[in-house]
Amino acid sequence: MPERRNRMYFFYKHDDELMKRVQPLVNLAKEYGFVVVDDHTKANVIVSIGDDGSFLQAVRQTGFRDDCLYAGISTLSSRGFYCDFQIEDTEHMVQAASSEQIEVRRYPIIEVTIDNAASFFCLNECSIRSGIIKTFVMDVFIDDLHFETFRGDGMIVATPTGSTAYNKSVNGAVVDPLLPCIQVSELASLNNNRYRTLGSSFILSGKRKLTLKISPEGNHYPLIGMDNEALSIRHIEKIDIALSNRVIKTVRLKDNSFWEKVKRTFL
Ligand code: NAP
Ligand code: MN
Repeated sequence: MPERRNRMYFFYKHDDELMKRVQPLVNLAKEYGFVVVDDHTKANVIVSIGDDGSFLQAVRQTGFRDDCLYAGISTLSSRGFYCDFQIEDTEHMVQAASSEQIEVRRYPIIEVTIDNAASFFCLNECSIRSGIIKTFVMDVFIDDLHFETFRGDGMIVATPTGSTAYNKSVNGAVVDPLLPCIQVSELASLNNNRYRTLGSSFILSGKRKLTLKISPEGNHYPLIGMDNEALSIRHIEKIDIALSNRVIKTVRLKDNSFWEKVKRTFL
């Protein structure tokens, strides 16, 4: 029998105003038989309260756990991409909490390996950007095939759920999260008779590996972003990016499919 998901951890910024708004949710959770824990490692439901940026942080700071369910509650006036609930709209929360069979959505995440050693996960995207005014150069490999030499501002490698974020701002495609894949988009590539890149975004199957080898030319290292966090490692030569075999599980609600969110947000 599957373990009952009844140990809940609330992730939020502990300021006075938000604490007041969170208290009724804590009471509601208890009313519905949840034990509210203050150590996230003991929880099997992790609830983020804030905006989509907070949800990204909640997942990151709790270690991208595969064995628990994440839920996002928006403190803004509307729901978000990761926030399936709005803080005042407790009706939907009660519905989800009281249903015997919660439907679970699985979001693909990417795994980034730096110099064959440290690895990190991203739920939205991994971004690599020049940290200086000059362009920077990197060699792009797909499954060890040298694909192109990139020169420009940088690149974004996005998950399907991240495709509506940074990736979309640079004209990347919006990708259905039911497709396990990664999308690579350029940031201001130089294209002329000396430098050539594909120029459009491309989508790789979840079985492929993307490798970026950063040219030591000029000894300038780029800024690496993992969702909304900057990586503190500076001297990097090689970055491998692939889809992880882990997923992030969230509650699936009836009236809130990915395409409903896209329509609600952009159209
Ligand atoms: P932020 O700078 O406050 O966020 C930018 C906006 O992106 C916010 O409105 C945020 O929503 C929204 N967002 C986050 N994830 C999204 C998703 N999966 N689909 C659609 N919209 C999404 O920083 P943040 O709130 O910490 O979010 C971090 C993300 O911002 C990064 O992962 C990156 O994707 C994105 N970003 C975008 C640009 C750009 O478009 N030029 C530049 C840098 C970073 P909320 O208001 O609900 O948080
Ligand atoms: Mn935000």
